Amino acid sequence: MNRRKQYSSFIKEQAKRLGFLGCGIAKADFLEEEAPRLEEWLQNGYHGEMRYMENHFDKRLDPRLLVDGAKSVISLSYNYFPSEVQEEGSYKISKYAYGQDYHHIIKDKLRELLQLINDEIGEVSGRCFVDSAPVLERAWAEKSGLGWNGKHSLLIQKQQGSFFFLAELIIDLELEYDEPFKTDHCGSCTRCIDACPTQAILPNNTVDGSKCISYLTIELKDAIPSEFKGEMQDWMFGCDVCQDVCPWNRFSQPHEESLFTPQESLLQMTKRDWQELTQETFSKVFKKSAVKRTKFSGILRNIDFIKE
Ligand code: SF4
Ligand code: SF4
Repeated sequence: MNRRKQYSSFIKEQAKRLGFLGCGIAKADFLEEEAPRLEEWLQNGYHGEMRYMENHFDKRLDPRLLVDGAKSVISLSYNYFPSEVQEEGSYKISKYAYGQDYHHIIKDKLRELLQLINDEIGEVSGRCFVDSAPVLERAWAEKSGLGWNGKHSLLIQKQQGSFFFLAELIIDLELEYDEPFKTDHCGSCTRCIDACPTQAILPNNTVDGSKCISYLTIELKDAIPSEFKGEMQDWMFGCDVCQDVCPWNRFSQPHEESLFTPQESLLQMTKRDWQELTQETFSKVFKKSAVKRTKFSGILRNIDFIKE
C-alpha cells in the first residue's frame, strides 16, 4: 500500500473510532462548479440577512486561501438522529438542537483526530471547521464521496439519510482521495418541495434561505415578516419538515452520543408550558444547548409569532 493510501486508511479508521458516521477525503482545490451557483444564490438574496455569507467569497471557494498550505479536505459526518422526539402537538425544535451544542462536541473530536494524525504521521498542520460559513461543507462532502445533495439542499447518505452534522478538517498533507459522489438518488421525488411549509425549496436543488423557517426562527434578528403568519406549522426553533418527509430518512438510526440526549422535561413540554416559559426554565432545559443562540427573547418572539 502506498503511503498516501495508508494515511487515508488510518484517518478513516480513527474517525470511525471517534464516532463519526462517515469520512471522505478530497483534494483541496478551487470549487469550480460551485462558484457560479454561489454567486447566483447570493445575487438572488437567498441568504436574507445572513450577510456573513457574502464575506470571504474567494476563500469559500478555495480552501487553500483559508488554510496555509492546504492539501486535503477531510469531510466528516456525525449522526444526531434522536431515539425519542417531542410530545405530539407541542411547539417544535429541530432535532439537531435537542441536546448540547454540537459545535463544541464535534470540534473537540476534530482536534483529537488532528492530534492522532500528528502522533501517527508526523507534523501536520490544519484547521477544524464545524458548520462554519467559510467552508462549503455540502460541496466538499459530495466531492469526497459521502453522498449527494438532495433537492432540499442537504446531504443525503444512502445508508443513513440526512440527520447528521457535517464537519471538516483541512490539512497540509497529501492523501489518497475519494471519488466524488455522482448519482442523484432523488429521482422524480418532490416530497420535500411539496411539504415545505413556506415554499422555500427551489427547483434547482437550492433553498431560498430567506424563506426557510430555520432562518426565520434562528438567524433573523428583526421581526418575522407577517407573510409567514400561519405558515410555520408550530416550529419555534429550526424546522425538520423536508427531512422528516424524505424517504431516505427511513434508514436513520438513533445516535449514540450521550451529550445529544435532551433534558427529559424538554420532550414533555406542552404548548401551554412553552407559552408560560420563564427565563429560569429556558436556562434549565437549554443548558449548553445551541438554542441559546436565539436567547430567551428570541424564543419568546418565535412563540408569540406562531401561537394562534
Ligand atoms: S427546513 Fe423547513 S422551511 Fe426550511 S426548506 Fe426545509 S421544510 Fe422548508
Ligand atoms: S424528499 Fe425526495 S426530493 Fe427531497 S431530498 Fe428526499 S429524496 Fe430528494
